[in-house]
Amino acid sequence: MKLTNFIDGKWQDVGRTEYTPVFNPANGEQLAEVKLSTMEDVNIAVEAAVKAQKKWALVPAPKRADYLYEIGRIMKEKKEHLAQVLTKEMGKVIEEGRGEVQEGIDMALYMAGEGRRLFGETTPSELADKFAMSVRAPIGVVGLITPWNFPVAIATWKSFPAIVAGNAFIWKPATETPMMAYEMAKIFEEAGLPPGVANVVFGSGSQVGTAMIEHPEVKVISFTGSTETGSKVAELGGRHLKKVSLEMGGKNAVIVMEDADLSLAVEGILWSAFGTAGQRCTACSRVIVHKDVREDLEKMLLEQMEKLTIGDGLDETVKIGPVINKNALEKIHSYTKIGQEEGATLLTGGTILNEAELAKGNYYAPTLFTNVTPNMRIAQEEIFGPVVSLIEVNSLEEAIKVNNGVKFGLSSSIYSRDINKVFHAQRDLDTGIVYVNAGTTGAEIHLPFGGTKGTGNGHRDSGVAALDVYTEWKSIYIDYSGKLQRAQIDTQVIGG
Ligand code: NAD
Repeated sequence: MKLTNFIDGKWQDVGRTEYTPVFNPANGEQLAEVKLSTMEDVNIAVEAAVKAQKKWALVPAPKRADYLYEIGRIMKEKKEHLAQVLTKEMGKVIEEGRGEVQEGIDMALYMAGEGRRLFGETTPSELADKFAMSVRAPIGVVGLITPWNFPVAIATWKSFPAIVAGNAFIWKPATETPMMAYEMAKIFEEAGLPPGVANVVFGSGSQVGTAMIEHPEVKVISFTGSTETGSKVAELGGRHLKKVSLEMGGKNAVIVMEDADLSLAVEGILWSAFGTAGQRCTACSRVIVHKDVREDLEKMLLEQMEKLTIGDGLDETVKIGPVINKNALEKIHSYTKIGQEEGATLLTGGTILNEAELAKGNYYAPTLFTNVTPNMRIAQEEIFGPVVSLIEVNSLEEAIKVNNGVKFGLSSSIYSRDINKVFHAQRDLDTGIVYVNAGTTGAEIHLPFGGTKGTGNGHRDSGVAALDVYTEWKSIYIDYSGKLQRAQIDTQVIGG
């Protein structure tokens, strides 16, 4: 299977025709080949998008929304197929694959609803016989750059608000997961989106990503990926005066207080640390635990971790799938060595799994470190794998300080039955998302998604907040007085 670009409503393969293989991380099987596009492909896509967007912006928003309802309907119809492709290509277990597709469906329906809102404001003018309002205006062509760990959901967080707001988009998916983008392009085609509104250009970040950022007609870049790449995107985007929305890495923590329901905390930690094999931006990679319950929590975690089944995510009984590729495996393993050298105690895991069938894929044993101190590299850097560090603290204040003492600020969680502790924590935890008595993952699509510090640059995916990325505020003043009225000057001050 050869995956070519979807541009202007057609499957196109122009210019250089170099392809790269796509592998199933569960067993190394080659699934497809994907085009490595160049600047030439980007230029063709942008030209088509510019043309299409001019007409698209004039389609009434509720009509634009009808396409999203249709996209959502088709995604629902194909849910199982999409989830299967997702699991084969990315590795997450099938139950999570279904969940991710559902997130896309939810986003389609939610953003379709925005077609009948897209609220602006009306406000009184300071002058007589003058009307004032602000409306959301589309921006034009937007560039979307997405990572491999949520190959469908994140694309829907970006493309659906872009569409409903009247923009056209060029989407560059990660080279590791082009099949999901191919599936989505087929859905855009089936839904009858006007040609050029949705374009998918495959290829590397350095080639296609750079070409998109540098193209003068691409007005917005919405990026999700690592903080390292995001900084480069921001730098280049800044030079070209682009509006750049960045969603980047995390080093998320679950805080377990002495009054917590420990069984509930263990469940939440396991789900948020080892789901998607720890490759979520919101993955729990630190557990900050009160000294009074540290030993109990350790024991309970170890007991439950033994029960985690590892293997191909298509097997419904498997709880943890592979990591994306061999490089990721090596990176994760290097952190095990770093943790040991730093003096942390490895309680379990810390190995690449090579027995029998697992040898064909990229599997890492769920790993738990204890005696971790807040400044160790394993407690500071994003590992992006199934590795958790336990950090002991003496108080809530110390727990919050440890939580906030990293360069990222995406998600945090606290387990406590004390309402006062909970309210202090939700106020003082310096992250874009806070969970109480739940793990660090589980965002719902109608709330803003994003983080502080090294996780983001102030924008948000999801919720109404996402519309701010894809619209420009336009303020409109209508003077029906028939004379020149000067703001701030010709105003009458009562009693003045
Ligand atoms: P990555 O930064 O390596 O790549 C992300 C995307 O950027 C890919 O499409 C890649 O091809 C592209 N890219 C690479 N170099 C580029 C360049 N110079 N210019 C433009 N684009 C370029 O990230 P990844 O490994 O695909 O994903 C994992 C990372 O994403 C983790 O750090 C994770 O925390 C983060 N992430 C963040 C969120 C969030 O919402 N905050 C969500 C999911 C993943």
